[in-house]
Amino acid sequence: MSRVHMENITCIACGKESPYRYWDMIDPMMNQETKDKVLSGELFTFTCKHCGAKRRVTYDTIYQEVAKGRTFHLVTSEESYMQAVNIYADRDSHSSPVLAHEIVRIVLSQNQLAEKIRIFDEGLDDRIVEIIKAYFLSQLYEQEQDIQVDEVLFFVGDQNQYEIAFLSQDGNHRSISFSREMYDGIKKDIGGKLPPIHQELEVDLEIAMEYLKD
Ligand SMILES: [Zn+2]
Repeated sequence: MSRVHMENITCIACGKESPYRYWDMIDPMMNQETKDKVLSGELFTFTCKHCGAKRRVTYDTIYQEVAKGRTFHLVTSEESYMQAVNIYADRDSHSSPVLAHEIVRIVLSQNQLAEKIRIFDEGLDDRIVEIIKAYFLSQLYEQEQDIQVDEVLFFVGDQNQYEIAFLSQDGNHRSISFSREMYDGIKKDIGGKLPPIHQELEVDLEIAMEYLKD
């Protein structure tokens, strides 16, 4: 079940306070709309009721789809990161909030949280997706040495095609699409050498590089 609490936030545009709903635990099972709002970022958007100004609010939350055995834990500080690591460190013990065979991922941003939802909803292995991201990113750097990439994210396009977006703070975004065949090929080549999918807590570009080294 979702768990929320209300707190007032001071608007930086007009200086007045408005209530904002903090989601301590997000469980979209009873309400698909909640999930859509996580994916769009609306759930994390504060709207001032006085002047209408909007801004993103950053905080820790746990997104859990119990029926699918998936937990994505969003941490926004070093301290909460360490706490999350400790929570899931000993998952075989009875006190653990999730079972050993369930998927747990610690994510560091709302974008990463939405990305994990997209990846697992497509039935993909996030480690293979990160390997594909690493491959395309290295290609991009080869073509354009001075390109600035701040975030690399997986998306599903309008035609249901798979896409990797390279986001950059200067607004010069790029994207590249890849086929399910490419994914299946890499999964076949490398998938068997990877540890069980539920064993990892953090799956990002860094770990993809580790996989490729072996
Ligand atoms: Zn305002």
